[in-house]
Amino acid sequence: MPILNFKDNMYRSHTCGELNAQQIGNKVTLSGWVQKVRNKGFMIWVDLRDRYGLTQLIFDEERSSKELMEKAGNLAREFVIQVEGTVIEREAKNPNMATGEIEVLVDDFKILNSSKTPPFTIEDETDGGEDLRMKYRYLDIRRNPVKNKLMFRHQVGMKVRNYLSNQGFIEIETPYLIKSTPEGARDFVVPSRMNEGQFYALPQSPQTFKQLLMVGGMDKYFQIVKCFRDEDLRADRQPEFTQIDCEMAFVEQEDILNIFEGLTMHLLKEIKGVDVAEFPRMTYDEAMKKYGNDKPDIRFGMEFAELDDLAKNKGFNVFDQQELVVGIAVPGAASFTRKEIDNLISWVKRPQIGANGLVWAKYNEDGTLKSSVDKFYSQEDLAAWAEATGAKPGDLMLVMAGDAAKTRSQLSALRMHLGNELGLRKADEFAPLWVVDFPLLEWDEETERFHAMHHPFTSPKKEDFALLETEPGKVRANAYDLVLNGNEIGGGSIRIHDKETQSQMFKYLGFTPEEAKAQFGFLMDAFQYGAPPHGGIAFGFDRLVAILGGQESIRDFIAFPKNNAGRDVMIDAPAKLDNDQLDELHLQLKL
Ligand code: ASP
Repeated sequence: MPILNFKDNMYRSHTCGELNAQQIGNKVTLSGWVQKVRNKGFMIWVDLRDRYGLTQLIFDEERSSKELMEKAGNLAREFVIQVEGTVIEREAKNPNMATGEIEVLVDDFKILNSSKTPPFTIEDETDGGEDLRMKYRYLDIRRNPVKNKLMFRHQVGMKVRNYLSNQGFIEIETPYLIKSTPEGARDFVVPSRMNEGQFYALPQSPQTFKQLLMVGGMDKYFQIVKCFRDEDLRADRQPEFTQIDCEMAFVEQEDILNIFEGLTMHLLKEIKGVDVAEFPRMTYDEAMKKYGNDKPDIRFGMEFAELDDLAKNKGFNVFDQQELVVGIAVPGAASFTRKEIDNLISWVKRPQIGANGLVWAKYNEDGTLKSSVDKFYSQEDLAAWAEATGAKPGDLMLVMAGDAAKTRSQLSALRMHLGNELGLRKADEFAPLWVVDFPLLEWDEETERFHAMHHPFTSPKKEDFALLETEPGKVRANAYDLVLNGNEIGGGSIRIHDKETQSQMFKYLGFTPEEAKAQFGFLMDAFQYGAPPHGGIAFGFDRLVAILGGQESIRDFIAFPKNNAGRDVMIDAPAKLDNDQLDELHLQLKL
């Protein structure tokens, strides 16, 4: 038995991902997890894994002692071991593996820790379902698909930090225990033990603090920061998420768009190797008209065509009554079977979409037109629809009608659905754009009040200011969103920076002067001490990373995500507090 030479402070001379033919003959020390054991009796192979890769270890009756063979025979999955051995050439080389040219003939090894049998296999293709993997997330992170995504996230974060830092931005941390910052969601609150009956709110974003930093003269701020919003979790949202939050002083909208277009181009180039041209800009109104959506995916066409003039008053009274008749041309879909079309009709009628129906018209390859409403529309009528929607022979036109806003949003959902089904939303294609000129205010049916569409600190366009009294819904804001492949990845605005306008804005939003003072007095006070003109933007970092990583879901790019009910199933949070803790916080539960 060779005398081992494990140095106390050296767990490894190499990682499990780096040995190759160059090191053949060398003595090495490796540490890692046992991924797999293949025991043929006379020979035992062990795949040893760490963050960097896999290395094959070999124990061989002819070259290894009996004790060593026995000890190796007892190894099981996920044991943590430290191995000393010699790099040898592999007989059966594996060109798909970074270390596939070699294996390590083990002199001896030490078990650093044993492991229970893991609840799922720690391999790229695992047998573990989502719930199980979330409960044992620390095991899931050992798997390449998750590990690689976390490493990718780090890389994107580094590129962002370097880019912004090179542009003169300073990363400044802002507090988490604050007062409400309205971003349109509910606050998570934290009771204060030392201030009886009082609560902090966790920031929905660092919005007011970054504005105060501008008053403080830090004219280029950024922060990669956690934000907290207590919303009903629609698919793929997290109650805590990360933003790249930025603010600049002495800038206009154009300056901000330029800097952050630069950042996005830089990331696409550095991370995806993709060059994109200057980003197109589209007004909010145009986006809604053309795509029924303020975050259009422009990787594919199927732009909306409004058909009111062509489809109303032709005897089809289903259309006549409606505010809007609007259609799209689906490329190559004239070949859809009756069943496929019926499926689409059922799809839009589901409660999630809520459409009343869907009219279809095929533009056949032979130039004839056939529709579900042939009784009412002649070939010429349908040809006019084709002209308006841009349908060509071989395409299928789909038409919806109803309340304008609802119908646009339903047709938009259908367009995206078809984009997915027809493979038009290609993960390796990137089509960014700016959506600008958002409305300042948005009518809320429930509260019967106007709400800030972005947030209450967004400045109205000067030329629309007068409309605030007469037609508040028509006022446009100096607000912009950066959209990438159908996702809003960033949004921001030029801010109000004088007390007068800010107080007026609070008034329009239904705050009494007292309420405004109680909630945002600190900001309006600050505006009286030489607040510079300023504006900013925040990117959704989780989403940005997922898109750059070619995925739709953000969850895998977050080390410890929460489930759809906002729970962390690994640590089992949220959880009850015991009575002592409640007493200390002066809290009594109503339950
Ligand atoms: N605070 C805003 C948000 O979280 C971004 C901004 O206006 O800069 O969406």
